[in-house]
Amino acid sequence: MSFDREAILKLAEKYGSFYLYDEREIQKSIDALKKNFGGVRFLYSLKSNPHSAVLKCVAKQGFGIDAASAGEVCASAGIGLEKRDIYYSAPAKTETDIRESLEKSVVIADSVSEVERIAKIAAESGVTAEIGLRINPDFTFEGEGGVSAKFGIDEELVFENLPKWKCCESLRICGIHVHSKSQELKWEKIAAYYERVFLLALRVRDALGAELDFVNFGSGIGIPYAPQDEPVCLEKLGKRMTALVESYRKILPETEFLIETGRFVCGKAGVYCTKVLDKKTSRGKTYVLLANTLNGFIRPSVAQMVQCYTDSENPAGNEPLYTGRNAFEFVPLTDSTERETVTLTGNLCTATDVVLKDALLPKMECGDTVVITNAGAYAAVLSPMKFAFLEPPKEVFMGADGTITEKGMM
Ligand SMILES: *Cc1c(COP(=O)(O)O)cnc(C)c1O
Repeated sequence: MSFDREAILKLAEKYGSFYLYDEREIQKSIDALKKNFGGVRFLYSLKSNPHSAVLKCVAKQGFGIDAASAGEVCASAGIGLEKRDIYYSAPAKTETDIRESLEKSVVIADSVSEVERIAKIAAESGVTAEIGLRINPDFTFEGEGGVSAKFGIDEELVFENLPKWKCCESLRICGIHVHSKSQELKWEKIAAYYERVFLLALRVRDALGAELDFVNFGSGIGIPYAPQDEPVCLEKLGKRMTALVESYRKILPETEFLIETGRFVCGKAGVYCTKVLDKKTSRGKTYVLLANTLNGFIRPSVAQMVQCYTDSENPAGNEPLYTGRNAFEFVPLTDSTERETVTLTGNLCTATDVVLKDALLPKMECGDTVVITNAGAYAAVLSPMKFAFLEPPKEVFMGADGTITEKGMM
């Protein structure tokens, strides 16, 4: 991926380790989505990167928000987004979460008991709760047939309960949400899944006997991490979805079609920058010790850990902690033309903060900056930055005009 080497070296004079999020890169991803998909509204999955400048930049582009907590609902409402821009979908919401969010967002119920809890809270407050249902469908990205899941309400249970729910005065079921997979790279699979969600929406509409305000197709669109990853063919996927939207528009004329994405927007728009703090050799091996690896950007350390426990060439992903092999590129910013084989580790008092083993890299010296790619999504937010009282990395946002915003997470 591309990054601004000069800007990073300049920031590295000021900061120990830091994330750099680049607005121009975010903009490029957003433009690609908008250009290829017609008749769809996108929601940004805030949990992937809740940096306040990232949130504002994405909202400015007309994206709504996929909120994963009442806190994310508040942060989104706090920058002026309206109820119809914020969709709150998470398992096991508390009563306080529900009370706080009903006015500010479209709450998506995640279980049968949650639908009933929301109905009770709404009745007590004398309002009608307009909610969506997260459905665990009777299909997956692989085809027909559902799976058991912690998320959502099994499709069968939805149809069993709808006759009761549609008569409940304090409820109006206004949409559905289906999300069953992240990080899919095959456009054909995503398209087939979209098609099944349309059919499910028709079944729900008919059982409800009322139009749906929205159908949320969830996420799925992946990004290439490793060099061998083929990017999703956005042109083909977008073309197919646009055609589906056009034909279903006639049958579902009042329904808005939503697609969620976190990583596609910001995953490749961020890099993690750290510094060489020390270098040593031990019994023939050279170690380069970096600042804040596991405790600054955890995913490369997790990838090394996964490899310790399998002989598989391609261990299955476990999002958002582990995607696959070689998911991050390590780029030392040095002019050295010499190369050497090194193991990159962090500065923690634990041996698990290894990020790269026995790799041939340009020769590094203490003080050199090392850039790690693919650090824009599920990076800062997942990392245990409080560990050992070490200084946490900064999160820096570079605006399209080059302005730097240092402010961290919301
Ligand atoms: C996390 C999440 C997403 C975002 O997934 P990405 O792979 O970042 O696009 C979308 N929808 C739901 C319900 C999620 O939990």
